[in-house]
Amino acid sequence: MRSHSVAAQGGINASLGEDDSWEAHAFDTVKGSDYLADQDVVEILAREAPRAVIENERWGTAFSRTKDGKIAQRPFGGAAFPRTCYAADRTGHNLLHTTFEQALKRGIMFYNEWFVTSLAKSENRICGLTALNIATGEVHGFSSKAVVLATGGFGRVYGHSTNAIINTGDGCALALKVGAPLKDMEFVQFHPTCLFGSSILITEGARGEGGYLINSLGERFMEKYAPEKMELAPRDIVARAIRTEVLESRGFEDEYVHLDLRHLGKEKINERLPGIQEICINFAGIDPIDEPIPVQPAQHYSMGGIHTDKRGATPVPGLFAVGETACMSVHGANRLGGNSLLETLVFGRSVGKAVGEYVSSVKSLDVESVEQETFETRERLQRLLLHEGGDSTANIRETMGQTMDVLVGVYRKSDALEAALKMIRELKTRFKNVSVGRSDDKFNYALIRTLELENMLDIAEIITMGALMRRESRGAHWRLDYPERDDENFLKHSLFIKVEDYIKTELIDVNLGMFEVKERSY
Ligand SMILES: Cc1cc2nc3c(=O)[nH]c(=O)nc-3n(C[C@H](O)[C@H](O)[C@H](O)COP(=O)(O)OP(=O)(O)OC[C@H]3O[C@@H](n4cnc5c(N)ncnc54)[C@H](O)[C@@H]3O)c2cc1C
Repeated sequence: MRSHSVAAQGGINASLGEDDSWEAHAFDTVKGSDYLADQDVVEILAREAPRAVIENERWGTAFSRTKDGKIAQRPFGGAAFPRTCYAADRTGHNLLHTTFEQALKRGIMFYNEWFVTSLAKSENRICGLTALNIATGEVHGFSSKAVVLATGGFGRVYGHSTNAIINTGDGCALALKVGAPLKDMEFVQFHPTCLFGSSILITEGARGEGGYLINSLGERFMEKYAPEKMELAPRDIVARAIRTEVLESRGFEDEYVHLDLRHLGKEKINERLPGIQEICINFAGIDPIDEPIPVQPAQHYSMGGIHTDKRGATPVPGLFAVGETACMSVHGANRLGGNSLLETLVFGRSVGKAVGEYVSSVKSLDVESVEQETFETRERLQRLLLHEGGDSTANIRETMGQTMDVLVGVYRKSDALEAALKMIRELKTRFKNVSVGRSDDKFNYALIRTLELENMLDIAEIITMGALMRRESRGAHWRLDYPERDDENFLKHSLFIKVEDYIKTELIDVNLGMFEVKERSY
């Protein structure tokens, strides 16, 4: 229940409306992705969406309703129809608790407060994992025929992020270490409207309900950037617009712009956006009924992740991934709001089925290899715990976050990216001598933070390598030195594979087909 899904606010997409269709949903998703999404995977997402939403509704999710009792839908960025189903502004909380209840009902065993430390491999196949029991400090081995990583995104690699503290990219780092490729890692989503100071998300639903973005001259500046969609252009476009306004001195305090909800009125804010009102009051001392909200972009979502096929399988037999940690390639270069909760439900189901089929083809467990891996992991953690001197985890982490915020953010260019890569590699060297600072067995969160940092440094390096390699601007990846999209060279996915001590990069084809690749404007 400490996952990030619990924090999702705005909603989940499904073409339930009479004039809407799965094809329209698929088209919006592909266009939103700047044509980098695999269209066969998008088709599954859009076709399955109504079934997934209705299923959760029958399980008990308390969706907001229209006057005649139907599931209410609000407009969201980049969508041609109001397609986003919601439970006020606490949709993730509702969906997660409903799904959790169903898991309890079916007797599924949870290991709460355990931290996965490594995957075990025998010959070429995954045969289990090792995990730390946080309460006792003991490392245990788990033998299994398959492992599914559903560990969420890697947003915390950035200093300013809307993500939960658990979003440290552990799954990606675990997969990388056993030879599974990562994909499209340079595509990091920056959400345009995060509360100035704390980076807490102010849902796109606030604009979906009619909120305006205003600069210090009092202008609704989105007019210049997306004259048709205005505030409801996709996130990459709105985030760049806000950054541009601030850089050109039309922001407030050279930092933020205003999200104005005042004209929506008290009743609508209380009914549709109660969580947002609460966040603004508690974290900024502002009531959005009376005052505009100061907002700025911050890291929000990881489009890239573990390279899988549409059944969640990685190239390493027995290793599967799903959700934000995976890159099935449904969001391409920019995810549309409301498509990610949907991805977890639609593909959570189909990956479950695929794993079921896979495990029935594997004859036996390999307990010995898991025991060996457990032994080695215990040794590794002991060495780490007992090491003294060197940098602290907190210092290295802070420098990493700042480096990513400043040099690998909304706007990128080669000299900044090269400086970032140099700094991240230096931090990796410093990490070899890191000191955890606490050697207790029980609830040693200093150890957890250190293990997470090791993972995050791997991810930060790869994001930066990908951003340098991709000499074009597409979706969320904007290169000031290459401001055009370059389909000839880069209508491709990037792959990152660990080979001994270095990262090999490759480009692979995008699955096109249903929709022609076009210029993207809103
Ligand atoms: C503030 C916010 C609002 C959002 N709003 C929306 C929205 O309205 N609509 C939408 O579609 N999307 C939204 N998103 C995106 C969406 O919520 C996420 O992409 C999605 O919930 C990710 O789900 P997940 O199951 O992949 O991962 P998570 O929900 O992040 O869960 C990952 C789980 O893995 C566990 N884990 C991680 N590492 C380890 C380890 N080493 N060992 C053991 N366990 C581990 C974590 O503890 C956690 O339980 C939002 C995101 C944010 C940050």
